[in-house]
Amino acid sequence: MVEVNSKDFAEIQAQWAAVRGRIRQKIGDAQFKSWIKIISLKECVDGKIILSVPSAFVRTRIIEQYLDIIKSYWLVQNLKVNDIEIVISQDKTLKSSTKSASEIKKTETKNKDHKQDDIFNSISSDLDTRFTFSNFIVGKPNELAFAAARRVAESNDVPFNPLFLYGGVGLGKTHLMHAIAHEIKERKPLRRVIYMSAEKFMYYFIKALRFKNTVAFKEQFRNVDVLMIDDVQFISGKDSTQEEFFHTFNALIDQNKQLIISADKSPQDLEGIEERMRSRLGWGLVADIHPLTYELRLGILQAKEEKLSASIPPNILEFLAHKITSNVRELEGALNRLSAFSSLVGREINLDMVQDLLKDLLKSSQRKVNIEEIQKKVSQHFNVKMSDMSSSRRSRTVARPRQIAMYLSKNLTSRSLPEIGRRFGNRDHTTVIHAVKKVEELRNKDDSFDEDVQLLIRMLES
Ligand code: ADP
Ligand code: MG
Repeated sequence: MVEVNSKDFAEIQAQWAAVRGRIRQKIGDAQFKSWIKIISLKECVDGKIILSVPSAFVRTRIIEQYLDIIKSYWLVQNLKVNDIEIVISQDKTLKSSTKSASEIKKTETKNKDHKQDDIFNSISSDLDTRFTFSNFIVGKPNELAFAAARRVAESNDVPFNPLFLYGGVGLGKTHLMHAIAHEIKERKPLRRVIYMSAEKFMYYFIKALRFKNTVAFKEQFRNVDVLMIDDVQFISGKDSTQEEFFHTFNALIDQNKQLIISADKSPQDLEGIEERMRSRLGWGLVADIHPLTYELRLGILQAKEEKLSASIPPNILEFLAHKITSNVRELEGALNRLSAFSSLVGREINLDMVQDLLKDLLKSSQRKVNIEEIQKKVSQHFNVKMSDMSSSRRSRTVARPRQIAMYLSKNLTSRSLPEIGRRFGNRDHTTVIHAVKKVEELRNKDDSFDEDVQLLIRMLES
């Protein structure tokens, strides 16, 4: 036993007692007696703790089940502990102990590799095999994003860093990121690629924080060649995650690792993001995907139709491309539904069937009401003057309809709160928020009020 300093060792012993106490609380007496109580503290060298157990069987079990919590609890006690090794304490001829030591090394490395693979694998398992470059239909709205993604996937170096892809929901950001990962895996299987949603990044990070092993967290990103984080708008406002993300981000950029980020808005428009972060996100190439044009929607539908079992007539595809404008996900959904129906009933789809089968989808994409229409309908309905929607009169008879109109504007249009405020006689956005809350409250407690609002919604949507 290499017990260098007995005072230090006494401290380690005390820490071990505390660690055991916490584990006991966590796993209960029975488990504690079977697995933890039998572990003894052997020594501590340069921050490495060596624990010993009676058999190889126990050792394996402890490594699999308890080593992580032992580590994390120990780190809480003492940040200097950098490793924990578990050895077998049987009678030791020199030979057998050397052997077990090398065995230990082996399992330990295996364990480590395994952990590392875990992260990479869990990420690869997220990759959708259909999201490839060849399945991506290119048109004006997405050509820049597509070209940039290809360039990153095919380059031997880092052409621009970061590549920042942004655009609305369902326009192909995730598809392009997965395509990059597929392409790199094919061309250079040894490159380490991590694809992760920002939410997952946050989840890992918060977990690391809780177990006080953010160092290990960072370590995991160190060997990455390409890091992709999808939907970063989700880390806005989360300060500590953002901070961590920023550090990881900077460190990787400094090491010339490729970063690819996506969001629903441009770096300048992302809310709740620190200024330095915002500016750094825009350092490389910022490529946006615009709302899809009719031609591109039709092109996508035609390409997807070819892969379906049932065929859909061209006029139907055109109809869909006209009617469903919001995003590709809805187009795909419509197509799949039609094809499933057609193969079930064994008939070719016609327009009547489409109207019926896709009622919900067609409705939601038709519902492009504007604020003026809302104001008009609401004032007619309550018999107030249209000008009162913007006037400063505060009597209940005009104020309530005005609030309802604001509420509907918020829910049926994509206008922002300040914009809505402006359109209602230059009111502040907080007034709009108040109106929305008030109407929600009234809808909840007053049935006839709720019916009124529902009726208005139906009228506006049809
Ligand atoms: P986002 O991540 O931007 O919300 P996704 O990448 O998840 O959108 O795309 C939604 C769906 O639309 C996916 O099934 C994707 O394959 C498909 N898609 C989007 N853009 C295209 C395109 N240009 N060509 C073919 N499929 C597309
Ligand atoms: Mg996405």
